Amino acid sequence: MTVTVRFAPSPTGNIHIGNARTALINWIYARQNGGKFILRYDDTDKARSKQEYADGIARDLAWLGIKPDRVERQSERADAHEAATRKLKDAGLLYACYETADELDRQRKRFAMRGLPPVYNRAALRYSDEELARFEEEGRKPHWRFLLPNFETDPFETKRTEIHWDDLVRGPQTVDLASLSDPVLVREDGSWLYTLPSVVDDIDMGVTHIIRGDDHVTNTGVQIAIFEALGAKAPGFGHHNLLTTASGEGLSKRLGSLSLQALAEDHYEPMAVASLATLIGTSGAVEAVATMEELVSRFDIGSVTKSAAKFDVGELDKLNAKLVHELAYETVATRLGAAGAGGGEAFWLAVRGNLDKVEDAAFWWHRIESATPQIDAEDAEFIQSAAGLLPEEPWDETTWGVWTAAVKEATGRKGKGLFMPLRKALTGESHGPELAALLPLIGRERTLARLS
Ligand code: GLU
Repeated sequence: MTVTVRFAPSPTGNIHIGNARTALINWIYARQNGGKFILRYDDTDKARSKQEYADGIARDLAWLGIKPDRVERQSERADAHEAATRKLKDAGLLYACYETADELDRQRKRFAMRGLPPVYNRAALRYSDEELARFEEEGRKPHWRFLLPNFETDPFETKRTEIHWDDLVRGPQTVDLASLSDPVLVREDGSWLYTLPSVVDDIDMGVTHIIRGDDHVTNTGVQIAIFEALGAKAPGFGHHNLLTTASGEGLSKRLGSLSLQALAEDHYEPMAVASLATLIGTSGAVEAVATMEELVSRFDIGSVTKSAAKFDVGELDKLNAKLVHELAYETVATRLGAAGAGGGEAFWLAVRGNLDKVEDAAFWWHRIESATPQIDAEDAEFIQSAAGLLPEEPWDETTWGVWTAAVKEATGRKGKGLFMPLRKALTGESHGPELAALLPLIGRERTLARLS
């Protein structure tokens, strides 16, 4: 049996770092088990699903390094969903309900007042012929509920009915079907809610493991019952913890700043985002992992913790800088060119250790090409002497040492008193990359001009 997982976003907005967590955990699980990863667009909501969002999701996954083995669209599978709906209706497991949202709301309030749980009372199973005729006459359209198997013979005599599964993340889980309302599977307008099409597709696509956020744990109890009602064996399940903002708010598609698209546009390294999105909220260390292969070999789904994990941009910045400090020139050359940073490999090696983002290299390239020297009055004489001792070209990374040794000897200055005025004169900044590496890039002519 080939391990088969799916990432099933609704293309109704841009995906964010929390969705990336679900996608990555699925992808890694598939890679660890020689399995397949399906990207499935849950696009049955015609009004809100948009092609541009579907394209955006594919682009964002590719940016993270995820290449789906298969792409599916729920909207193209209406026949299969229809067949399953028919099968459930024929078995008497999907029943028509005519309550309006208002009526259901009033019913819930009445239950609450009597201290009863807000579980639907299956009143629709008791409609008389007259009632049904009246609903027809009023032009009401039914919505359809799945009859949960939480009773022996009388649906009004429910009994504790435990559904069990051994969760890949949370260990043994139990949901009592008697504590739940029969879920609505089909709306008044005939469209499906996500619950049934998802099960039908998971069956038809041979999904062996459903890995998703822990906001779906209760759905899982219901969906396992639907798998069984359709004559299928339920797959394995894993429910990972969700990410929240630093202030503890849930992430939503409206939080644009944490969308993968925004993070990519902000020049974060995809592996910094992937490392954090995967390793946060686990019992292991959150570290910057340089390649997807490495992430696949170190992530363990069993190490995901149960409580929500806070996503902190500061942590992403740290991981990003760590990765950037190690990036080889070949991997960034095109990006440096696009950001307007010339200078080739020597330049990259000189500055990378000082960068938070690759594109920030442009700042130092501009400082090499032109800088406004900062020379304090008390350093003016010192700077003049240093200019007089500047070695002849050709220059290399040893030039700085030779030059500053001569300046030290001539002026008696050392340490910060020696280096800082030179740094400020040469770059216009009081900190930055090693001057030994910058000096040959600045060159003698520009250096002299900045010292005078
Ligand atoms: N489209 C559903 C969601 O985004 C999929 C949930 C699932 O993975 O089953 O919540």
